[in-house]
Amino acid sequence: MLSRKILLDETHIPKKWYNITPDLPKPLPPFIDPSTKEPGVGIVPRIFPKEIIGQEISKERWIEIPEPVREVYSLWRPTPLFRALNLEKALKTPAKIYYKYEGVSPSGSHKPNTAVPQAYYNMKEGTERLTTETGAGQWGSALAFSANVFGLKATVYMVRASYDQKPYRRIMMESFGAACYPSPSKQTNAGRKILNEDPTNQGSLGIAISEAVEDALVNEKEANYAIGSVFNHVLLHQTVEGLEAKEQLEIAGDYPDMLFGCIGGGSSFSGFFWPFYYDKITGNAPKETEFIATEATACPKVTKGEYVYDHGDTAGITPLVPMHTLGHDFIPAPIHAGGLRYHGIAPTISVLKSAHQLEARAYNQIEVFKAAKLFIETEGIIPAPEPSHAIKGVIDEALKCKETGEGKTIAFVLCGHGHFDMQAYDSFLSGNLLPYEYPAEKVEAAMKKLKDMYPWLDEVNKKFI
Ligand SMILES: *Cc1c(COP(=O)(O)O)cnc(C)c1O
Repeated sequence: MLSRKILLDETHIPKKWYNITPDLPKPLPPFIDPSTKEPGVGIVPRIFPKEIIGQEISKERWIEIPEPVREVYSLWRPTPLFRALNLEKALKTPAKIYYKYEGVSPSGSHKPNTAVPQAYYNMKEGTERLTTETGAGQWGSALAFSANVFGLKATVYMVRASYDQKPYRRIMMESFGAACYPSPSKQTNAGRKILNEDPTNQGSLGIAISEAVEDALVNEKEANYAIGSVFNHVLLHQTVEGLEAKEQLEIAGDYPDMLFGCIGGGSSFSGFFWPFYYDKITGNAPKETEFIATEATACPKVTKGEYVYDHGDTAGITPLVPMHTLGHDFIPAPIHAGGLRYHGIAPTISVLKSAHQLEARAYNQIEVFKAAKLFIETEGIIPAPEPSHAIKGVIDEALKCKETGEGKTIAFVLCGHGHFDMQAYDSFLSGNLLPYEYPAEKVEAAMKKLKDMYPWLDEVNKKFI
């Protein structure tokens, strides 16, 4: 009988994270301080602990995982790698499909892989409280869990649309001891300003980030900010996924032809594919692996956005980040994959995309939920809407294999379960989902607005990107 699950014991929890920075095809462009138009990190050093800043700019290939972090990881790591035998059979495909399941963590997704070390370094450096934003509630739950493990308080600004749609995520955060506010909130200047103009504003990740950062800045002595994606150190922490998966595939006697993941800010997918990219550039890969990032047609930053400098938040508090973006005042359609609604993407994804090391594909939520439904019926796990984008990509590829007769090995990261997304499944099952498609004209308008805001932006884009 073929194994469905490939399991590792706790001694196989990685001892080091892999940092892609020294192995990128082109160096990462620096952050730009808009007040000087020169490289600069602005407020960043005021809201993160020193150890995290060090990791953010590190050129070291391997970074040691502290023992107390590995100990917390052992609550759920190593996570299982599954062979999707039932899905393969249903598709009648000669392809082999594997998935790395991160839904077994305390908060139900990959997010604690970085929340735990972030809380740990903050605790070590004397922080008393962590502030953050959350979209779907996944990141807020992970941070609430991790802060509590290391005796810190947590304040979470949750995008209003999700706060109303997903009350159970808020209760989960509160169960871990965190305080959770709907964003825009009355707690901060950024929130109050938006509420004054539009009292029913549904919020966005950009707005929630502005609020969480402002809270950390105003209360600089006691509080720091923690980020759930986009930054290098976050992606670095997520490489436990790919490092374990490589070992597990080796046990199965396979090596992937294609890797799939979804991209909100790009952390779960980067954590999955970076270790395989390392094989590729060090000449240790037995075959050429393709890396395919999947996103929502309602938030198509990599497939439709532009690779330019833009703020990471709506209020423009953060420095300018070199990334594919839809514009920092992007207001997403209310799609159910809340984690994919961010306007930008990790700068490393943008470098790899522009160097043709990575491909991106976009799907609408109807085709995505159809794919999820088949996965549920065959594999028995209800996936979160976000990784269901990857499932859609994998199923399309497996069906292509059926036509060509190729027995490709395809792996994806199932970065979270969808147990808190029943409202979304209800909408799908009752035929009430809309296939949002973000129009190209809106991207154009946002880019024009950005250049009106900073008339020198083209020059800086040309110089550094
Ligand atoms: C946060 C989240 C995402 C999006 O973030 P990435 O950094 O791109 O991984 C996707 N899926 C789930 C389940 C999430 O919690």
